Amino acid sequence: MSTVQGRLRIAVQKSGRLAERSLDLVRDAGLRVVKGNNDLLYRIENYPIDLLRVRDDDIPTFVADGVCDLGIVGENVLEEVRNGGPNAEVVMPLGFGRCTLKIATPPGLDYAGPSSLQGLRIATSYPKILRRFLNEAGVQAEIVTMRGAVEVAPRLKLAAAICDLVSTGATLEANGLTARDTVLDSQAVLIKAPTPPEAGLQHLLDSVVERMAGVVSSQG
Ligand code: ATP
Ligand code: ZN
Repeated sequence: MSTVQGRLRIAVQKSGRLAERSLDLVRDAGLRVVKGNNDLLYRIENYPIDLLRVRDDDIPTFVADGVCDLGIVGENVLEEVRNGGPNAEVVMPLGFGRCTLKIATPPGLDYAGPSSLQGLRIATSYPKILRRFLNEAGVQAEIVTMRGAVEVAPRLKLAAAICDLVSTGATLEANGLTARDTVLDSQAVLIKAPTPPEAGLQHLLDSVVERMAGVVSSQG
């Protein structure tokens, strides 16, 4: 079930912060990318490989289910969609897409650690990761899940604090928020399906992984 017509499939983000670097990695690994006549699928012309271009949120599931053999996704997304079933396996960190999931608070809130969040409402796009962080700290708090614009939640009184991805901190600053504890340090990772590909494609998969590893290590 992992491939269609004897081709490997690699899931990459279609557009967004990981899209360009993911394509660069594929190209640097020696795969010649040609745009297909549909947006969803790019073909590799020198190997039987297709790139499936999707939203990053869908990548862990596609790879866990074996719909794709490999995928490139942020650890933050991988962690958030992790469930009890068979999961995609992390092959290696890729050294790009670095960001940190952080607790951030507005001026009025005294923050002395996670316990300061006890009984409060916290807005985030990562409810599962935040819940685990709070549980580990023994903190009970309400979580409001927002798909985007999490940083405006305190101003709108939707939440007392937020848990959001930060890279430079400029967005937090622009919204008068201060970064506090780190919930997760993240970067893009290469993931692979828990089941092997079609028999004839294992060697190709291994060689793609090896070439990507070479590219990543050469970038230090
Ligand atoms: P999609 O349309 O694919 O769902 P998205 O809006 O969820 O895209 P992007 O903003 O493109 O996602 O971010 C993709 C990934 O890039 C994030 O999940 C994260 O791993 C990484 N990333 C790196 N820096 C940042 C940042 N400053 N803010 C958000 N994500 C970042
Ligand atoms: Zn997304």
